Amino acid sequence: LDYGIEEEQGGVQGLRSRWLTMGPITQEFEREFAIRHNVKHALGVSNATVALHLACLALGIGPGDEVIAPSLTFVATTNAVLYTGASVKFAEIIGPDELTISPESIASQINPRTKAIIVMHYGGYPCRMHEIMALANQHGLKVIEDAAHAPGASLNGQALGAWGDIGCFSFFSNKNLSTGEGGMVVTNDDTLAEKVKSLRSHGMTSLTWDRHKGHAYSYDVVDLGFNYRIDEIRSALGLVQLRKLFSNNARREVITQMYWHSLTGTGVGLPFSRYGEGCKPAYHIFPILLPESKARLVFIDAMRQAGIQTSIHYP
Ligand SMILES: *Cc1c(COP(=O)(O)O)cnc(C)c1O
Repeated sequence: LDYGIEEEQGGVQGLRSRWLTMGPITQEFEREFAIRHNVKHALGVSNATVALHLACLALGIGPGDEVIAPSLTFVATTNAVLYTGASVKFAEIIGPDELTISPESIASQINPRTKAIIVMHYGGYPCRMHEIMALANQHGLKVIEDAAHAPGASLNGQALGAWGDIGCFSFFSNKNLSTGEGGMVVTNDDTLAEKVKSLRSHGMTSLTWDRHKGHAYSYDVVDLGFNYRIDEIRSALGLVQLRKLFSNNARREVITQMYWHSLTGTGVGLPFSRYGEGCKPAYHIFPILLPESKARLVFIDAMRQAGIQTSIHYP
């Protein structure tokens, strides 16, 4: 976590504005997030779990539909599907060198009920988006990117999160861009953006801020919406963190290369260490695969004693 005086000042600025939620700072955070990821719309939300839920709802996913998702991911990726009443079909990952969803396994799960594919850019390393988008186009499927690990990452110059129909980012405390709790939905589709905007705030046609600014004097409720909003203090923190994101990701790359160099030949598996050209990962976590003979818990404990936190991604 890279938090300094800049975040403190940002947070205080948010407080001093005396407008506490979904106002001009959030709009600025959204605008700047969209520009830096070269995507048309970015919409701030409370966390990535609700971002994924909104993505599913905006794409019309519901009871009777199936969504293909990777078997190796955080539980929220697939819970979002279940919230809508749809069901999940798991696809395998490519293998120990590449822990992202396998296009062949996706293809084997497609059937007439399949509505969408959710991919997860594990560790901030890109999924095989060319093949996945080709499959989706061929079968008329929607694509949601769980980009919780991947802010600032890209593939062939296109930001992760901006490849599919909707991308979802997390600003939880342990992510590359942290605001404590927070998230962002991104899309290039105007209709999907409008739908997400409406659903994140009770399906209402205007916000308190619009009414305060005199743009509207009342509202209508046109959808079964939620309160999935982000507040101004978090957006203020997010703006500061966003401005550090690319240099911090570059620093993570240097450290990752050092680890790869030092661990080569030790028998420890190093996923993604031979990733392809055109990949600009976010290096969110440093994944290793232990040789089967070594007890995982013993390793975790020894690392803890050395003051290094590890965790299992994912049990
Ligand atoms: C952190 C994470 C989420 C959930 O993010 P929250 O902002 O905590 O709701 C979803 N998917 C993946 C892959 C994550 O790592």
